[in-house]
Amino acid sequence: MRQSKLLAPTLREAPSDAEAASHRWLLRAGYIRQLAAGIYTYLPLARRVLHKIERIVHEEMERAGAQELLLPAMQPAELWKESGRYERYGDELIRLKDRHGREFALGPTHEEVITQLAGDEINSYRRLPVTLYQIQTKFRDERRPRFGLLRGREFLMKDAYSFDEDWEGLNQSYRAMFKAYEAILGRCDLDYRAVEADPGAIGGEGETHEFMVLADIGEDRIAVCNTCDYAANIEKASSVNSDAAPPTITGSLITAPQPAQVQTPEVHTIDQLCDFFQSGPDHMIKTLIYTVDGLQSVAVVVRGDHEVNELKVATYLGVTEVHLADAATVEQITGAPVSFAGPIGLDIPVLMDRDVLLMSEGIAGANQVDTHLQSVIPSRDMVHAVAGDFRNVVDGDTCPHCGKGVLQLLHGIEVGHIFKLGTKYSERLNAAFLNRQGQRQPMIMGCYGIGISRLLSAIAEQHHDERGLAWPTSLAPYQVHIMPVSMKDTRQVELAEQLYAKLLECGVEVLLDDRDERPGSKFKDAELIGLPYRIVIGKGADQDLVEWLEHGMSDGEVISSQQAIDRALQLLHR
Ligand code: ATP
Ligand code: MG
Repeated sequence: MRQSKLLAPTLREAPSDAEAASHRWLLRAGYIRQLAAGIYTYLPLARRVLHKIERIVHEEMERAGAQELLLPAMQPAELWKESGRYERYGDELIRLKDRHGREFALGPTHEEVITQLAGDEINSYRRLPVTLYQIQTKFRDERRPRFGLLRGREFLMKDAYSFDEDWEGLNQSYRAMFKAYEAILGRCDLDYRAVEADPGAIGGEGETHEFMVLADIGEDRIAVCNTCDYAANIEKASSVNSDAAPPTITGSLITAPQPAQVQTPEVHTIDQLCDFFQSGPDHMIKTLIYTVDGLQSVAVVVRGDHEVNELKVATYLGVTEVHLADAATVEQITGAPVSFAGPIGLDIPVLMDRDVLLMSEGIAGANQVDTHLQSVIPSRDMVHAVAGDFRNVVDGDTCPHCGKGVLQLLHGIEVGHIFKLGTKYSERLNAAFLNRQGQRQPMIMGCYGIGISRLLSAIAEQHHDERGLAWPTSLAPYQVHIMPVSMKDTRQVELAEQLYAKLLECGVEVLLDDRDERPGSKFKDAELIGLPYRIVIGKGADQDLVEWLEHGMSDGEVISSQQAIDRALQLLHR
């Protein structure tokens, strides 16, 4: 490709609201442009990278035995009503009407459509198992589109769905997809972890894993063990080693002093509490009031240095979600402003994190304005509370799996999600087949998503330096960048054209910077675009010498033009 013809408009600066490095570089290097919040145009360079990602995905799906199809993006609302998700999906679902006033939705995912199709077209166990997939544009009216392609409202996804006759079959289909995802992310040169995820209180029968690309900007937090291969989303990670002995309470509860009230005006935060009592946050008992599905209230109690894990609370209660109660509700329940809520004397259920139970004593809110309680002994004073694992894991927690290693918390970008659905959709949408005994039975399903456009950004997030993008060879839009320093120098131009023609002939993807620009701006653009190999043709052209540059090299290596060709072909296995 001749760069003079390429639509790759580079920018000197990224817009100030571009927070993620990948977002900034993709904009600056002329890969993407925003049309509206969370809606992007993929310019030619990005389209090429997407094609390469898609090719890898197609190859690995095929290897796993999946078949490609393409489902409609526009879907009748009735189908969504049948599955019960028309309401439940909420505002993320984009709804529209046709000219006859019939309601439709733009697919955020395709369980409904594919389940109906499978139910209509597959009637016998003989046609199972089958895994179907597509790569398609998805629509989700995200509350907070951000980080460029990482959280878009219109984005590309590979979604696959497996249909099996039994759970044994589903386990195999799931395993095959798990392996395919490992292969895809490995080929995309990503540092990632496959983590256990939480299936949520609803639809919770199935196992599920998320594939997390490690990056500071990642919106997910994951816990990984430094000794064994345990890795879990923080939503799911357990702070309790299931083999550990139950907590033992030591010390004499009878002789210990009773909780004593202390006046604490103006003490609102855990930090202020620590200052006031000259003690660490691990001596504080934090009480948070939650409302459950907008109706009931519960108190959740964790140590001052821990955070409540709302999903664990919801799962324990068997509900989908819990929400922090507003200030008025807290006052009504505790009789005191928010900062003075405490676990003793409440007449709502109290869930106490296990580590609170293990505290020999602590300081808690007194449910009275400007007052705290000292010398609270949870095992004595909070017998009314239910103890369990209700907190997020923290750095240094013992691994719940091996019991030896410690957990480390990392940030991740969820690029893939695989899920054992079971019969959740096949029952509702009547996707049944005749089993070996001749009986009708709902199909056992799995679903498997990978964000193709999110992957593009995630790769950029891990592959850039302070001057621009730095694509792995397998994904770069072009592999070799040829740059004659001066288009006015006929020898330079001639040599550049020769190299260009030869490499093209050998099947190498080459970008030739034939623009009549100042060398400084050509170099800057080359660094932004980030191709793996660069051949610079300058003054040495008279002696048939060129400069060879690879990512991370500050100075080029001077070699002959033939050596440059040989090297490119060797590195690219041509
Ligand atoms: P998130 O928690 O990030 O919102 P999700 O759980 O809603 O993700 P899934 O419904 O499992 O995501 O979708 C499958 C895959 O699609 C995700 O793993 C991700 O790679 C991609 N994806 C989901 N939402 C978006 C989005 N708004 N923009 C880009 N990619 C997305
Ligand atoms: Mg989402």
